[in-house]
Amino acid sequence: MKSGFVSIVGRPNVGKSTLLNSIINQKIAITSNTAQTTRNIIQGIYNDDNSQIVFVDTPGIHKPHNKLGKILNEQAYYSMDGVDLVLFLIDVTQEFGKGDEFVLNKLKESNIPVLLVINKIDKVKYDTILPKIKQLNDVFDFKEIIPISAMKKTNIDDLIQTIKNYLTDDIKYYDEDTITNHGEKFSVSEIIREKVLNLTHEEVPHSVSCMVDLIEEDKRSVSINAFIIVDRESLKKILIGAKGTMIKNIGILARKDIENLLGKKVYLDLKVKVVKNWRDKSSFLAQELGFSDFIE
Ligand code: GDP
Ligand code: MG
Repeated sequence: MKSGFVSIVGRPNVGKSTLLNSIINQKIAITSNTAQTTRNIIQGIYNDDNSQIVFVDTPGIHKPHNKLGKILNEQAYYSMDGVDLVLFLIDVTQEFGKGDEFVLNKLKESNIPVLLVINKIDKVKYDTILPKIKQLNDVFDFKEIIPISAMKKTNIDDLIQTIKNYLTDDIKYYDEDTITNHGEKFSVSEIIREKVLNLTHEEVPHSVSCMVDLIEEDKRSVSINAFIIVDRESLKKILIGAKGTMIKNIGILARKDIENLLGKKVYLDLKVKVVKNWRDKSSFLAQELGFSDFIE
């Protein structure tokens, strides 16, 4: 038995969430084209016959520009403490930049072994990867370098085998069937939020939130009541869309992913609610809507 904690770090949009999802084979971390959609550190847990790897997905380390960015950053640094290994993820199509340098400098201070994972190799010809490897090897003392495609699941098995060599523990931290420590409600709300952000692009800000309640019907189906919470009428209008097409499409896409996640038939009742300054009164709001807890 080998086990340990692994942190995935890198600039926004390099594919951290996508990688986590393809390793765990479940929709647990939100992925989108917009930077910084992952506001929470989500632990995905990989299990096989002789190992357990607990992954910490970070919001992407970057230089903070505002208060939210600063909080995200603190979470990202924090997630590096106490991990056995860091996967430093880059996008092969992007030039190595100040952002990467910033992250690597932080890693130099930490003494944790770092693997360089070069992602999105499906987007380039193979012979462009080697110069990239040479260039990056000069900047940092990576333990190993592994080219992958998180999306096409290329070399993911290799990556997992390599990670195992750096795990230092030999106990199982979590039950076999624990996929994420945030539970199903959180995963469901993240899926809905992902669809909202993907379908509405820049029009709807990241402050949109979701509340979900799962009502178990039987072993094969589940009813879900979900509210998308926004703080102004104009956003509600966008989310409903002309003749309700937007909310309908969000529902269709979300339901498909939730069914995959839960392995059951899903009945999804999705509504949009406007609550001014909901952040200040989230717990009251939960009560008012009849939810046992508030999941942002
Ligand atoms: P994060 O911000 O680092 O978590 O990045 P995401 O996982 O959200 O991915 C950002 C974008 O890159 C999404 O549109 C993904 O679909 C895309 N992406 C991630 N991995 C790959 C890959 O291996 N190949 C390609 N072509 N696209 C990818
Ligand atoms: Mg992400």
